[in-house]
Amino acid sequence: MRTKEQNEQLAQLLFPKGKESPKDVLSRYPERETEGMVLRFAPSPTGFLHIGSVYMGFVCTKLAKQTNGISILRIEDTDKEREIENGVTQIVNGLKGFGIEFDEGMVSEKESKGDYGPYMQSQRLDIYKVFAKDLVSKGYAYPCFMKEEELEEMRKKQEELKVPTGCYGKWAKFRDADMEDIKSRIENGEEFVIRLYSTGDPNKSFDFKDLVKGSVTLRENYLDAVLLKSDGYPTYHFAHPIDDTLMGITHVIRGDEWFSSLPLHIELFNKLGFNLLPYAHLSPLMKSEDGKKRKLSKRKDPEASVSYYIERGYPKEGIIEYLLNIANSNFYDWRMQNTNKSLDEFELKFNKFNSSGALFDIVKLDNVCKNYIATLSAKEVYENALWWARDFDKEIADLLVENKEYCIAIFNIERTGEKIRKDLVKFEDVRDQIAIFFDDLLSKEKVPDITGIVREEDQKIILTKYLEIFEIGDSSEVWFEKIRNLSKDLGFGKVGDVAMVLRVAITHRTQTPDLYQMIKVLGEEKVRERIKNYIDLMI
Ligand code: GLU
Repeated sequence: MRTKEQNEQLAQLLFPKGKESPKDVLSRYPERETEGMVLRFAPSPTGFLHIGSVYMGFVCTKLAKQTNGISILRIEDTDKEREIENGVTQIVNGLKGFGIEFDEGMVSEKESKGDYGPYMQSQRLDIYKVFAKDLVSKGYAYPCFMKEEELEEMRKKQEELKVPTGCYGKWAKFRDADMEDIKSRIENGEEFVIRLYSTGDPNKSFDFKDLVKGSVTLRENYLDAVLLKSDGYPTYHFAHPIDDTLMGITHVIRGDEWFSSLPLHIELFNKLGFNLLPYAHLSPLMKSEDGKKRKLSKRKDPEASVSYYIERGYPKEGIIEYLLNIANSNFYDWRMQNTNKSLDEFELKFNKFNSSGALFDIVKLDNVCKNYIATLSAKEVYENALWWARDFDKEIADLLVENKEYCIAIFNIERTGEKIRKDLVKFEDVRDQIAIFFDDLLSKEKVPDITGIVREEDQKIILTKYLEIFEIGDSSEVWFEKIRNLSKDLGFGKVGDVAMVLRVAITHRTQTPDLYQMIKVLGEEKVRERIKNYIDLMI
């Protein structure tokens, strides 16, 4: 064990330039005045926006807003290998696309807002050094010169001996190294990391209350975890207590994957002299596969990526609504009772989070989106569809622009009244829906063969007769009555069969929204033309 003086000497040796004390740094971050929650979302700029990030970002901003608090976007860019260009902009814009915006933090690659920055970890290296130096001076941290190969060898030996792997206790070669040895290594320019000098006892356990998981018993940390890497960047473990304390965070909301490191974080909060914060560990989004649950994977599941939803034109409101379903188990009931209320009125609660794995089910998501689009007016559908198509389907975008009123009329089919159509899940589906109304698009589709239901000769008779009695001005009652009479007169038992022949002749589909309304939108000329062409096709 080094003496107090030796530790101070060591701290000076390792960080000769640092003049600031933790107190100086802390004084630059005054206590926050808000009564609400101060929360941060802290992604790494890896260039891939996971739907789980939308979930986390949404939960963070929603809880902050709900309590009149503050939400912060902090960028954790300490892993230089994983970083990509424009990673921050991608996160900021990606989340903005879902209406998720933060009160403080990064707003673009270089700009930020708020007084508790820098909000990018790579710009906080001096701060981490101040605290690392302080820990070393107190004997709570030390330089470790072990090389990769040495660490590997140690791990192998530990495995052979069937003892826990890692750097701890007597395995931690440099925790009590001789001052002279350290000095000469530094003079020789040897690389080193700064490790925690853990004083935890793995045989001791303690109780901890997580806001989502409830009460849990944890074992103390005993590992001499790396705090600063050899390039001077902090590890997540070290940056977390420092940043969250300085930024005045009131609750740490983060992914479950960090739960196992919690004892280490608790030891660090103690050794840094900070008050421990309440934690809410949220389960990651899971996928059900072969009866088992697994994490929604960036590698295996295309639906893990936010771009999947953007490219297909999923309504962002539907996605957010579904994420709320996943987040709080009581949301569904709330929605049933408050069909028209804004999501802002739903109160998210920690104890209603599902602690055992939030299942992300694309079928359910589709359903929520379908119901959401059903609440839009024809004009809103038009606007959303156009907004999506401009980026992803040029042909449809042009059609929408050139035929605005016609398209709104198309979207209005079955959009009012009792039975609202629910065949749009996402705006990509608009193409299929409007294709019926544009000959160019329809001509690319195969006309379904229904001769198994109604013979060709009979189809011809039905259609020829229909052309004689067809009046575009008929009310829906009269229109239907005419079809009923037609089927009676011609001796067909089922009205449905007659309607099917008309439907296929006019729309080239066997399933469509209300045929009467479609005929109205298509107009007399087009309907006659389609029927005639269909008859001609059979000859
Ligand atoms: N950068 C960490 C991550 O992406 C943040 C974890 C946290 O929120 O504390 O997992």
